[in-house]
Amino acid sequence: MTSGKAGAAVADVDVAVVGAGFAGLYLLHRLRGLGFSVKVFETGADVGGTWYWNRYPGARCDIQSLDYSYTFDAELAVRWQWSEKYATQPEILRYLQHVADTLDLRRDIAFSTRVEAAEWDAAASLWRVRTNRGDAVSCRFYVMASGCLSMPKTLDIDGIDRFAGEVFFTSRWPHEGVDFTGKRVAVIGTGSSGIQSIPIIAAQAAALTVFQRTPNFSIPAYNGPVPADKRSAIESGREQYRDEARRSGIGVPVPVSEQGALQVSDEERLARYEAAWARSGLVEVLSTFNDLLANPASNETLAEFVRGKIRAIVHDPATAEALCPKGYPIGTKRLCVDSNYYDTFNLSHVRLVDLRTQPLATITETGIDVAGESLTFDAIVFATGFDAMTGAIVAVDITGREGLTLKDKWSHGPRTYLGLTMAGFPNLFAVTGPGSPSVLSNMVVSIEQHVDWIAGCLEHMRREGLAVIEATEAAEAGWVQHVNDFGDITLFPRANSWYMGSNVPGKPRVFLPYVGGVGTYRTICDEVVTRDYLGFRFEGPAGVRINDGIIRRVQPDVAIMLDIVRGLGLPAMETMPVEQARAFAAMLATQRPPGPNVGECVDGTLPGAAGDLAYRLYRPATPGPHPIVVYFHGGGWVLGSHDADDPFCRDLCVRSNAIVISADYRHAPEARFPAAPDDGFAAVRWIAAHAESFGGVPGQIAVAGWSAGANIAAVVCQMARDAGGPAISGQLLVAPVTDADFSRASYVDNADGYILTTSLMRWFWDHYAEEPARANPKASPLRASSLVGLPPALVVTCEFDPLRDEGAAYANALAAAGVEARHLPCRGQIHTSLMAVDAILSGAAARAEMGGVLRQFFGAPILA
Ligand code: FAD
Ligand code: NAP
Repeated sequence: MTSGKAGAAVADVDVAVVGAGFAGLYLLHRLRGLGFSVKVFETGADVGGTWYWNRYPGARCDIQSLDYSYTFDAELAVRWQWSEKYATQPEILRYLQHVADTLDLRRDIAFSTRVEAAEWDAAASLWRVRTNRGDAVSCRFYVMASGCLSMPKTLDIDGIDRFAGEVFFTSRWPHEGVDFTGKRVAVIGTGSSGIQSIPIIAAQAAALTVFQRTPNFSIPAYNGPVPADKRSAIESGREQYRDEARRSGIGVPVPVSEQGALQVSDEERLARYEAAWARSGLVEVLSTFNDLLANPASNETLAEFVRGKIRAIVHDPATAEALCPKGYPIGTKRLCVDSNYYDTFNLSHVRLVDLRTQPLATITETGIDVAGESLTFDAIVFATGFDAMTGAIVAVDITGREGLTLKDKWSHGPRTYLGLTMAGFPNLFAVTGPGSPSVLSNMVVSIEQHVDWIAGCLEHMRREGLAVIEATEAAEAGWVQHVNDFGDITLFPRANSWYMGSNVPGKPRVFLPYVGGVGTYRTICDEVVTRDYLGFRFEGPAGVRINDGIIRRVQPDVAIMLDIVRGLGLPAMETMPVEQARAFAAMLATQRPPGPNVGECVDGTLPGAAGDLAYRLYRPATPGPHPIVVYFHGGGWVLGSHDADDPFCRDLCVRSNAIVISADYRHAPEARFPAAPDDGFAAVRWIAAHAESFGGVPGQIAVAGWSAGANIAAVVCQMARDAGGPAISGQLLVAPVTDADFSRASYVDNADGYILTTSLMRWFWDHYAEEPARANPKASPLRASSLVGLPPALVVTCEFDPLRDEGAAYANALAAAGVEARHLPCRGQIHTSLMAVDAILSGAAARAEMGGVLRQFFGAPILA
């Protein structure tokens, strides 16, 4: 018995846990070891969770057993020897039973007991838990270790109750086993469960018919004894191996290629896929290149490779084609790992029914009706999957603060902080909940990390005398956004998978897990703790303590880039002599992806204000003539050249269907203010006067620029207005410098850590213009006495950019002056990230909008 809030009600146990699978067992052991009293409830009659229920023939793990094992107990790890590379369900169940026995866990587990409801009692600061056996247990902390794949999907097939033969569910397989000898068997479903069981059922049955709605990609398991090299890799450095797993992407230490699939020759790519196929392993295959789950074209190369294997294995071409998955990227539905799955379709008594061409009409008394056919069976096996990640959690009536139910809270999709906690539900934790890496990882690694985090949190609260913990709304909203941002830069949302909730009719279509990887995720969870439990509200005898905040606000791919840059330990540019800074910037530019192909790319010179200027022209592949965008590169008036923003100019050319001419200008400190805008204006005048010779449409000239280049573009518009021409159709200002004023909040908030720093910006200004000149509108266009009569504008700003607020101020000032001006604030972006074409995918939507607005400047409809 233990006390709740100081002087408050007494709880029956410190912690109630739902589920006795990998998660519940480790929770019980870990919390017990810390001196907490724990009660575990389990619907099943024994421990094991997934491995207790899924006893269908062929059930095995798809992550190698040496990896798919607990690591918290070194002795256990040494003592338990797996007999196969991918252990069978009986062996994994024996393992978990062995763990339960060795650690004496069963005495605190109530088996055959389902938790039906749990309600937060705010007055007593405890949860009241109710079971189907009438237990009423109060606890200070309530943990859902109820499994992500433990709630079978409610069947959405007509006529199930009518069938007079035998019915089996892979997820609820009879303990005594099933003998299919001599029987006509139907299997519905070709996910991992179907794919594992079909070859074994085929070996027994007189006839097997497989009903496939969506083909899955599957790779060979090559199961056998535990690979000796893997065993010795672990045994020779167990802690290091486990640590690498914990810091990896998926929870298995597999090197990920540093190349994209399209960065190598066709021969090289094929050779790597062949090697991966020969070695197999789902983590290994998907790590062959680093962009397989982000770049559709790269993904298609692997998808087609696997389709080629299917066509080579399956003899009947029509069956092979029906088994070839199409229409979704490989890896975005769980990649299956099989033993002789495709070969099974070469057996004469095995038939594939493709439900896309012969839709399933109903189950009948004797079998299954599909379009045009009635089929007769003795047994039907449903391998139809789960209401994944949320099903088991919302199956319990969970009521939090002020009567809020979790079912209602999640009615539009789950919302969690870190996949571990939920605002409105104090002292409630979920293990591997939605919003955590969970099902996208080796789940034992993720389970151990969550259990350790929860244990650490409970210890912290005990130490600090805190009774209640709850995620704040802001922290949760920020995390949901981060999870979605990460999902959106991958291909996962393109598939109708259970990861997206789309396998269950009526379930909100939301990407459920966190795709940032177990290593990144662990770092974030640890950072929450070191930042004094950022995003949590605590209550204790001393009152309420709120440490509100959002743990990740930068876009995920931007954060990865920042981590890489930090890791390189590069010197600050402003500490270098100018020539060295220029060489350094030019060297960095060689490392970036090249950007899209354009119709033509030519270099030339045109007359500037004081001599020739280099330019690079990008022409669309479409028939001309085209409008022209005169572009000015960034680089603080000090760095760069006509080809400095090459990938971005290519992207702009393709997206706007306009000629982009990137015109150089004289740089500081050799040519200080106002050399740059004078050159810019000269270039625009020249191009406008010679539009036709560039293949342009006379009178259709816009200007664009990034950073200092956007400053030049803005100033050129003012100069053209004041000079009475040339007419400019529009201005695209990306993260522009508009005012020499360092007092704005963004200069303070984003002073450091986001590549363009406040001190670097000062360095640029110091090279560019004397203090008094900076107030000149040709240097600070925001200070113009009037902005009336300027061309329509799109001003793009980035959230984590020192220049953010002066860009926003310019957009506002333009609008106030009656200019048709739009402001596009880019959440989570930094000064340089929108330029990083094909590297920062989260910037693509903004770049698409820029292209669309340029088209609008020229009166063309925006293309999709
Ligand atoms: P579970 O093992 O699902 O345990 C949850 C338990 O909670 C269940 O026993 C359930 O009965 C109980 N429960 C739920 N609700 C209640 C309630 N209201 N009251 C009482 N008890 C309740 N992952 C991998 O990483 N690698 C693999 O190779 C792999 N293979 C898999 C194979 C199959 C067939 C399936 C279905 C899943 C597989 N998974 C795999 C995912 C697997 O679910 C996890 O690896 C892991 O076993 C989950 O452990 P858990 O304790 O979180 O949940
Ligand atoms: P699943 O991947 O969701 O597959 C269910 C299958 O049933 C799909 O082919 C689905 O088709 C089909 N289906 C569902 N409803 C249907 C209907 N009304 N009519 C026709 N077909 C229908 O489920 P699962 O195979 O049980 O696997 C779930 C997850 O558990 C896996 O992804 C994996 O993470 C884990 N698992 C792992 C292993 C392993 O190898 N270790 C084994 C089993 C399970 P659609 O695709 O068209 O919906």
